[in-house]
Amino acid sequence: MITVIETVKEMQNISSKLIKSGETIGYVPTMGYLHEGHLTLIKKARKENSKVIISIFVNPLQFGPNEDYETYPRNFARDKKLASEAGVDYIFYPSVQEMYPTEMTTNLTVTKRTDVLCGKNRIGHFDGVATVLLKLFSIIRPNRVYFGLKDAQQVAVVDGLIQDFNLPIELCPVETVREEDGLAKSSRNVYLTMAEREEAPHLYKSLQEGVRLIESGKRNPEVVIAAINKYLKSNISGEVEYVEIHSFPSLLPLRQLEGKIIIALAVKYSKARLIDNIILNVT
Ligand code: AMP
Repeated sequence: MITVIETVKEMQNISSKLIKSGETIGYVPTMGYLHEGHLTLIKKARKENSKVIISIFVNPLQFGPNEDYETYPRNFARDKKLASEAGVDYIFYPSVQEMYPTEMTTNLTVTKRTDVLCGKNRIGHFDGVATVLLKLFSIIRPNRVYFGLKDAQQVAVVDGLIQDFNLPIELCPVETVREEDGLAKSSRNVYLTMAEREEAPHLYKSLQEGVRLIESGKRNPEVVIAAINKYLKSNISGEVEYVEIHSFPSLLPLRQLEGKIIIALAVKYSKARLIDNIILNVT
């Protein structure tokens, strides 16, 4: 039986009891509107821990003034059913008032890994992510946390957060789950028009084109980025916000492609902004 918990106090009490009785807690933070991507994280958590907790919280702190906080898709009844079928034990489902009853006296500022990719345009986004996650981690006290590599910059930021604050939590990144045609699953895909949805698989195809060039011996990031941009220009109508290549997870610039790298892009459509990436090892 799945249990829904709406208060911080109750969540803390339950976590304390679970920890005292020797359970291991696998935790999946989400903003809800669950899809196969979230469910893959949950299934992994289910396999590796004796108890699984997910949170559903659309965190206002991580949305910019012109972003989609108000219109972010929400459907708790459906999420509860999907979570229950996937074997989740507890859903932590706090209100904004419950999470932020008074103005915060302390906020986190992420100082590295945010000057590139989405962090460059979404000012304050990762500060909001880090702040809410530190709260959620201290409420739930999980052994393992599961994050999707679709949001690879988030994984890089959480990796830094866990190291910086010596949090006794194992970070478990999970491969991006895709539609059959290659489009990365996202709660925001529902915003795409039919025509946009049809061309959206080209985002992943452009990244694969980049990988192909690297595999054929190209080591200059500018060359690979230019080829991806060219591919996108001729195949999609959306506005390309960025195509970038960096080291992963440190997200530092590269002159030569070497070691673990990320090729990432963001495209703006009429109502949705889509992101995708591929992480690979270049030897
Ligand atoms: P969100 O609800 O969008 O904040 O996502 C919650 C978690 O699910 C994050 O760790 C995301 O990276 C992860 N996630 C979202 N979409 C996917 C996907 N297509 N594949 C894998 N993980 C995903």
